[in-house]
Amino acid sequence: MDWVNKHLQIVPINTFIDPIFPVENAIITHAHADHAKPGHKNVLATKHTIKIMKIRYGENCANNFQELSFNSPLNINGVKVTFFPAGHILGSAQVLLEYQKDKINFTGDFKITKDDTCENFRPVTCDTLVTEATFGLPIFQHPDPEVEINKLINSLKNFSNRPHLIGVYALGQAQRLIKLLRNKGYDETIFIHGALEKICDYYIQSGINLGNLSKALIKGEKKNFNGKIILAPPSALKSTWSRRFIDPILSHASGWMSVKQRAKQSLVELPLLISDHADWNELTSNINNSLAKNILVTHGREEALVHWCKKRGLKASALSIQGRDDSGEEI
Ligand SMILES: [Zn+2]
Ligand SMILES: [Zn+2]
Repeated sequence: MDWVNKHLQIVPINTFIDPIFPVENAIITHAHADHAKPGHKNVLATKHTIKIMKIRYGENCANNFQELSFNSPLNINGVKVTFFPAGHILGSAQVLLEYQKDKINFTGDFKITKDDTCENFRPVTCDTLVTEATFGLPIFQHPDPEVEINKLINSLKNFSNRPHLIGVYALGQAQRLIKLLRNKGYDETIFIHGALEKICDYYIQSGINLGNLSKALIKGEKKNFNGKIILAPPSALKSTWSRRFIDPILSHASGWMSVKQRAKQSLVELPLLISDHADWNELTSNINNSLAKNILVTHGREEALVHWCKKRGLKASALSIQGRDDSGEEI
């Protein structure tokens, strides 16, 4: 494993995975801002990751882009690179590297739970697994997202005289929440904050049916939002923007909503435990299924997962990669 160093640099081809500073050659696992940075010379990523990077940072956010489809190996000077779906957001990839008969798989951010808004996770076997650990503690067990959606639908019935203002991350989670509602038969217009518009449009263009969406606040327009759903980035919930909604039910969709303290602090009345990251059971089952004997943990709650691996006779260590947003506040 000496051919990939702790900065996630693939030494023989001088290429970095998700570098947080501008480099000559970068492989980007997905378009969340803590993984995809502008300013690289050459970027290798999936089509959706490249398109979303361009939407967010501009057409010229890297000098050259090269698309790589899932499941189609690319040989770069003796290093074989293959992308497999990570199930995290649209376009998110695991990166399998093969060099001189050694196989290393990088999960990037991932989840195994089914998601109708992205390509679903595929297990990959390897010698070394480099995994995230955002929710790397046994207390983190995400419930079935349908149970959480039912809570929201019941609340809409019980509090039809109040707007339901829900904090969601703009890329991936917003679209997934909308799709989960649509799958439950909720066909009313869903109102969105302007910051969610471009990415929602991109998902729709990509063939993901999100039903009827409308911008929540249009200047000079007065709407009655009672019993309606409004989605906004978590930061907007605390801003003057949200003051125009009268007596809203505040909600927040996040894996962190299992930590009661966090829900309380953010004055969330209706916490929805819906996450785009693997929970403890998914993290550990993926380690088992990978058949890897060597585990490296990139970011998140690393210690517990390293300990769990060592107890099972696996080699494991924490990389403590800086700059990843392990609060889970994905943007
Ligand atoms: Zn992410
Ligand atoms: Zn991340």
